[in-house]
Amino acid sequence: MIKYLNVRSRQRNEFIDITGEVERALEDCGIAEGVCYIYVPHTTAGVTINEGADPAVARDIVNNLSRLVPHDLGYFHREGNADAHIKSSLTGVGLHVPVEAGKLTLGTWQSIYFCEFDGPRHRRCVVKIIQG
Ligand code: ZN
Repeated sequence: MIKYLNVRSRQRNEFIDITGEVERALEDCGIAEGVCYIYVPHTTAGVTINEGADPAVARDIVNNLSRLVPHDLGYFHREGNADAHIKSSLTGVGLHVPVEAGKLTLGTWQSIYFCEFDGPRHRRCVVKIIQG
C-alpha cells in the first residue's frame, strides 16, 4: 500500500507535524504488523522524528540548522537555495517506523516532522506500509 500526503508549507524553513496523516494512512491500509516507510521525494526538504510535546523543540532545531547552514554563504549552487539542499542531506529524506497491533511504535514524545527548507511550497510525502 502506498499513499501520497500533500503538505503545504508556509515559511521558508518550517517543521510540519505529519504524525496524524501517517497514522491515518496506516489505519486506511489495515495492516497490523509491518514497517511504515516515510519518504520525501524532494531535494530541498526532509523528514525527521523528534519531540512533538513541546513545539519549542522543533523551533530550536529549525533555528539551529539555519545557524549551522546560513542562507547566503557564497555557495557554488547559484539557484539561491544551496542551504536548503544541505539541510535536506542533514535531516535525510526517509524514515521507517515499525508497526505493531496496527499502530506506529513511536515513543510517547515522538512526532514525525516534514522538514521544509525552501518554502513556502506545495510538497508531497510518500507513505509506504509493508506487511511483515
Ligand atoms: Zn537548488
